[in-house]
Amino acid sequence: MRGENLSAVRVVCNSTEKIAGKEVFIMQKVTEIFGSYVFDDATMKERLPKSTYRELRKTIEFGEPLNNDVADDVALAMKDWAIDLGATHYTHVFIPLTETTAEKHDSFINPIGGGRVMMEFTGKDLLRAEPDASSFPSGGIRATCAARGYTAWDCTSPAYVKTSLDGCSVLCIPTAFTSYTGESLDYKTPLLRSMDALSREAKRVLAYFGKEPAKVTANVGPEQEYFLVDKKKYMKREDLKLTGRTLFGAPAPKGQELDDQYFGTIKEKVSSFMSDLNAELWKYGITAKTQHNEVAPAQHEIAPIFGSTNVATDNNHLLMETLQKVALRDDLACLLYEKPFAGVNGSGKHNNWSFSTSDGENLMDPGPTPETNIQFQLFLAAVLAAVDNNAEILRLSASSAGNDHRLGANEAPPAIISAYLGEQLEAVVDQIIKKGVAESSPAAKMYESGVSTLPSFRMDATDRNRTSPFAFTGNKFEFRMVGSTQSIAMPNMMLNTIVANELALIADRLDAAEDADACIQEIIRELLTKHQRIIFNGNGYSEEWVAEAAKRGLPNIPCMVEAVPYLTSEKTIEVFRRMGVMNQTELEARAEVMLENYAKKIQIEARTMIEMANKQIIPAVMDYEGKLAIEAKNISLIGIEPEAQKELIAQINEVLIELKAATARFKEIVDKSSEYEEDIPAWATYCHDQIFLSMGTVREPADTLELLVAKEAWPFPTYGDLLFEQ
Ligand code: ADP
Ligand code: MG
Repeated sequence: MRGENLSAVRVVCNSTEKIAGKEVFIMQKVTEIFGSYVFDDATMKERLPKSTYRELRKTIEFGEPLNNDVADDVALAMKDWAIDLGATHYTHVFIPLTETTAEKHDSFINPIGGGRVMMEFTGKDLLRAEPDASSFPSGGIRATCAARGYTAWDCTSPAYVKTSLDGCSVLCIPTAFTSYTGESLDYKTPLLRSMDALSREAKRVLAYFGKEPAKVTANVGPEQEYFLVDKKKYMKREDLKLTGRTLFGAPAPKGQELDDQYFGTIKEKVSSFMSDLNAELWKYGITAKTQHNEVAPAQHEIAPIFGSTNVATDNNHLLMETLQKVALRDDLACLLYEKPFAGVNGSGKHNNWSFSTSDGENLMDPGPTPETNIQFQLFLAAVLAAVDNNAEILRLSASSAGNDHRLGANEAPPAIISAYLGEQLEAVVDQIIKKGVAESSPAAKMYESGVSTLPSFRMDATDRNRTSPFAFTGNKFEFRMVGSTQSIAMPNMMLNTIVANELALIADRLDAAEDADACIQEIIRELLTKHQRIIFNGNGYSEEWVAEAAKRGLPNIPCMVEAVPYLTSEKTIEVFRRMGVMNQTELEARAEVMLENYAKKIQIEARTMIEMANKQIIPAVMDYEGKLAIEAKNISLIGIEPEAQKELIAQINEVLIELKAATARFKEIVDKSSEYEEDIPAWATYCHDQIFLSMGTVREPADTLELLVAKEAWPFPTYGDLLFEQ
């Protein structure tokens, strides 16, 4: 039944309808599909008793505690709604420290005697579950023998019914995950705490501007980049299947040099994938809005409309899962890895972040005259101070084994944190620093094309800077370092927390000040002067910037392994303690899990590399050599000297010997890593310094061989096959 429904969605989304003699595109139908699998506000209103609905809204909007009777009512309505959509099971969905989502399905059935069952789901089932948590990494929070972990319903992120093509449906309930001892074992709990902290501290500051919003919400719009390759070819690549990236591969004759992929016409196959994807996402209430081809061949992007950092994080997890699911259904494979192919751009997740009041005011919006907008200046100063004071952990929040290939590698933002403000705001900042107040700022220019038929319009007040890791883009900051596979929970938790902390310091000063207005002016000038060093409007990819940043004393942390220790520095522990987001144990746990995860990923890559070299590449090249030798022998039998063959055999043989020796040496290095496993930081460092950095010694001869042997002889699809034959 579900299968039918799904294909119906697909058809609906690809059709037009005649209304009053006119072809009207699907819009109307999309509005019907949108959110149809989400237990959203409208559904709650429709299905819940009025008083229950009111109570639940109070919890969702203002964080008021939920009582058990309300939970029972909600559970009943949710179950009936889910069953109407074909659900037989429910699951608490959570984000353990592994970063991917976890779920354990329970059916609704409850035996009632006589061999019969009824479908049951109580408030208790909704509010909490106790999955066996022993196999999730806890970073030492919980001993392996102590398995208890609890998931608790996060009612601020709507439940939904997830369907699969074969008709299975399950009610998914977003939850937070904590240990028996009360420490969080996930990224959602600290994210929610950080949202509370930001709301609390921003409200304290806003009070000095005579404003009392019920709540301040941190928002994010994550732009998701990904690659699409042919499924059959993907299946033939062990490295893509096991590690997410190609560990071997000579560059294809064509790369991204023509810039013909970026915003290029979308191929039919990809466009039909995008249409299937949108239909699925819209069903789940995910506001998929923009889609386009990205810079590298076979690379694309999708961005939803922004939402609260919590809901957007859950949605982004569902989006990543749906991207992969729909791709397989369409005979494609979606690669989310940060750098699946060497030599062409990798994928990131631009994290567009801002915070706004429940009265609808975006606190990152400078308005038309930022020079007179004192409130904006104060919030801007707080953000810049937060970023400068905590650059190391912000960099850390975008660190992963995959992202190590991007950051600082001339295609993605550098590993140095700086902020781009643009001409207009920089002028305001300069004046404040020099004179204490700003009096003017360059106004947005009018666009005049000189062509009478083209419209004229007011342009944005600032240009964009695509090389900045933290770029102001009109009314939000775009944190561009985040990796494409990453959960955005961590970067947003970090942003919310460090900004909340600066706002708390500001509010403390204002609380103690005799003249709050004068104090505000003083704080703005002081913070902007102190943190101006983080502002950089130039080319972040240039060598000059690396030197300049060093002069300014900005940290430049080259890799994840070196970034992790900052998570447990005294400064970080104090910020997180003050803001009530994570205690020292929770921070230490995350640091440990990150390093352990890093080491394990590098080990999997290394083992895959050795296996592909020994079991696929070396035998294939030997076969080819043998074939050439037979040919050479046959040619000499007819009295001709097989010079070309002999030359090629010699060339191949030399590189083959090198590859064999390099693989053996590499294996020794990899085997030795078991000596370090007991000491996780040392293990991760070994994996980076010794294993990761010597992968090139195996890859280089293998890639040379790929270029020497015949296409048919190569044991798996090449870059050309993967990138240009979707
Ligand atoms: P770009 O042109 O930078 O690629 P996109 O349209 O791809 O922009 O993505 C921009 C993202 O920023 C979208 O998800 C959008 O909803 C989000 N966004 C817009 N305004 C805000 C805001 N005030 N706060 C957070 N995110 C925002
Ligand atoms: Mg975009």
